[in-house]
Amino acid sequence: MGAPDTKIKETLGFQAEVKQLLHLVTHSLYSNKEIFLRELVSNASDACDKLRFEAIAKPELLEGGPDYAIRVSYDKAARTITVSDNGIGMSRDEAIQHLGTIAKSGTREFFAQLTGDQQKDTQLIGQFGVGFYSSFIVADRVTVISRRAGLPADQAVKWESDGSGEFTVEPAAREARGTDVILHLKEGEDELLSSWKLRSILTKYSDHIATPIRMKKEEWDKDKNDYVVKDEEETVNQASALWTRTKSDITDEQYKSFYQHVAHDFTEPLAWTHNRVEGKTEYIQLLYIPSHAPFDIWDRNQRHGVKLYVRRVFIMDDAEQLLPPYLRFVRGVVDSSDLPLNVSREILQESRDVKAIREGCTKRVLSLLEDLAENRKDDYAKFWSEFGQVLKEGVGDDPANRERIARLLRFASTTSEGAQSVSLGDYVARMKPGQKSIYYLTADTLEAAKSSPHLEIFRKKGVEVLLLTDRVDEWMLTFLHEFDGKPLASVAKGDLDLGELADAQEKEEQQKVADEYKELVGKVKSALGERVQDVRVTLRLTDSPACIVVDRDAMSAHLARLLKAAGQKAPASKPILELNPHHPLVQRLKYEEAKLADWAALLLDQAVLAEGGQLDDPAGFVRRLNQMLLDAAAK
Ligand code: ADP
Repeated sequence: MGAPDTKIKETLGFQAEVKQLLHLVTHSLYSNKEIFLRELVSNASDACDKLRFEAIAKPELLEGGPDYAIRVSYDKAARTITVSDNGIGMSRDEAIQHLGTIAKSGTREFFAQLTGDQQKDTQLIGQFGVGFYSSFIVADRVTVISRRAGLPADQAVKWESDGSGEFTVEPAAREARGTDVILHLKEGEDELLSSWKLRSILTKYSDHIATPIRMKKEEWDKDKNDYVVKDEEETVNQASALWTRTKSDITDEQYKSFYQHVAHDFTEPLAWTHNRVEGKTEYIQLLYIPSHAPFDIWDRNQRHGVKLYVRRVFIMDDAEQLLPPYLRFVRGVVDSSDLPLNVSREILQESRDVKAIREGCTKRVLSLLEDLAENRKDDYAKFWSEFGQVLKEGVGDDPANRERIARLLRFASTTSEGAQSVSLGDYVARMKPGQKSIYYLTADTLEAAKSSPHLEIFRKKGVEVLLLTDRVDEWMLTFLHEFDGKPLASVAKGDLDLGELADAQEKEEQQKVADEYKELVGKVKSALGERVQDVRVTLRLTDSPACIVVDRDAMSAHLARLLKAAGQKAPASKPILELNPHHPLVQRLKYEEAKLADWAALLLDQAVLAEGGQLDDPAGFVRRLNQMLLDAAAK
């Protein structure tokens, strides 16, 4: 295959994911059909932003001048709607690339997630962002004529598709730089062929767009009994950057539609904060918390969703320096008055102004979350279920704000019925008299946590225990040692020290049983040999015969499993087996000298299983268990 001949018409296939997207868009977004205009205007405005930026270094790109505009028009006879802009435009290769493939990372994984359930998929696709492809909700053919700024007039491209599986590209001419998107409407969409209708959609969704959106004026003609289109144009939006307006002049609806534009998200934001920061570093921040996690929130390469402007000029998307990674779910705009227009990602990394902006934005987002947690509890619960795990990363990543983040954390606990709704503050307020520590248990699942033998004594004493089951928890706990002066203590680590929660009588009993079981414990320990670090009796258990714990400073069994699952080497730490002296099985041990080794092994194995752990020798466990059942049956 030689180089493609750019002089002829070529037919090309869409990337598989685009085909899927197109199918979904045309089949499930019909009830939201008006959004096509918002998406096209949004792209047109981005194209103007991009040119404004490129022209800083290359003013010759501006050709006719910097009079940026988006034009929306319709043709009743041809049944078309056209959205034009004089932005950056596209070359032939760019049109093939941008309008035939999806460049977002994680796209394939996203499409694999789709269920075929129309309603769910519509939600998902909204979060993914449909962009240009939303044209096909109302059009059965879309023609794009585009010329990249800087290319000669005869090197424009005409792209066309009916949205099924293929598109064509062919050479075209376009006098001015920029792009026309021409929608050939589907049967039954004629109501869109009206100035009034188009204006009302633009006002609803695109009023905040900073570039002027122009339409031809219309006048009522008595003789024709219809509107006639005049040659004169008028601007139909406010055409000033929304974030530069004063708060009191912006309605909630405008804030919301601006969010949909910057975040490429269909759904409404959960909350936002808009401030003009003055002082050493001056900037405006308009930051949003989305109501849903984007599909790629766990993608480590995911960029951050804040756009950087310098004195109203768009500089870059995804300016990751503006917020720390644990706030990567935030979307919005930062407009700096101090940075140079030719700022690059490299400069951003070193800039002191950027550092101040990052600190300022971080504080604002944390304040916004505190406000939600305090005053809009249901919304905070929503936030937490979508982004809680990401925020937890901040405990480790942002020591300066650790206290504040710790207050924002929410956990499941033995009193919360499984919901992650308990704050550390709530916990401390509920601590029993004499309770010194904040107790927690880590496990793979909530079910495993709830039925852990380690909780038995805490249930008996009515002491709340936090149940931590997110993957990030173990890592987070290595940074979170105390809260409000109270140490965090794992219920599965170290000697159980209930401190003043245990009364004198219990302490005395503990000593007594320890003496009483000394010999037996010694035998169990030598029977288990290398498998355990130690064996001891405990008052931790009420119902189970045995459990395992690790030393206070050792890695928990749960973390060791996580590391192993992630393919990392976990230092081998041997468990301590604790026996419940009140359990009949343990009491019987004294009289089972002959089978002591088997019984001890069974007790250890079941304690490992109860933790959610895996046995090194499962077949041995089964053999011993069966033997025990047979012995019991024979009696
Ligand atoms: P998104 O805007 O989310 O990137 P779209 O599917 O809407 O996704 O658009 C894909 C790409 O096509 C854009 O990123 C842009 O590069 C290009 N594009 C779309 N519309 C225009 C336009 N009017 N002018 C220049 N480029 C455009």
